[in-house]
Amino acid sequence: MKALGEILTFNEKFVAEKKYEEFSTSKLPNKRMVILTCMDTRLLELLPRAMNVRNGDIKLIKNGGAVINHPFGSVMRSILVAVYQLHADEVLVIGHYDCGMGGLKADEMIENMKERGVKEETLETIEYSGIDVKKWLRGFSKVEDSVANSVKIIKNHPLLPENVPVHGLLINPETGKLDLVINGYEE
Ligand SMILES: [Zn+2]
Repeated sequence: MKALGEILTFNEKFVAEKKYEEFSTSKLPNKRMVILTCMDTRLLELLPRAMNVRNGDIKLIKNGGAVINHPFGSVMRSILVAVYQLHADEVLVIGHYDCGMGGLKADEMIENMKERGVKEETLETIEYSGIDVKKWLRGFSKVEDSVANSVKIIKNHPLLPENVPVHGLLINPETGKLDLVINGYEE
């Protein structure tokens, strides 16, 4: 458990040496867009570099798989805040090839939970409360379909202004190459 200590030590030096100065910007996105993408480690620096996006340029939302689970969940709320309060005029959903959420094995993950101390009764209680844990954990089978589905949920959201284009793309996590799935200007 030394990761936190290392971060705090580094951070003290970072601030003391004013390394933050080169990142100085405002909270409004220069490129007036909000991007929803995956939390995949390979995309951390690659995605912004491959898109010529720098600190201050965009609003970035991340989760496992770049998916929207619920039209009134926190991802959609963040998108609406970006659009209405923070001058984002376009929305981009960027999934990626070889995504861990593609074919995520819910059964296997539940077994891991049990091995790490989650009790069978707990899982049963959740089930009796009307929550299908397996369904909740499950990823997607085709990333193209998942991106298209997220775009559809955002584009058809009753609270999204009609003139906001919603694009769907896929990124290669090795080369950074983008493939267009949905061109929001044509929808
Ligand atoms: Zn992913």
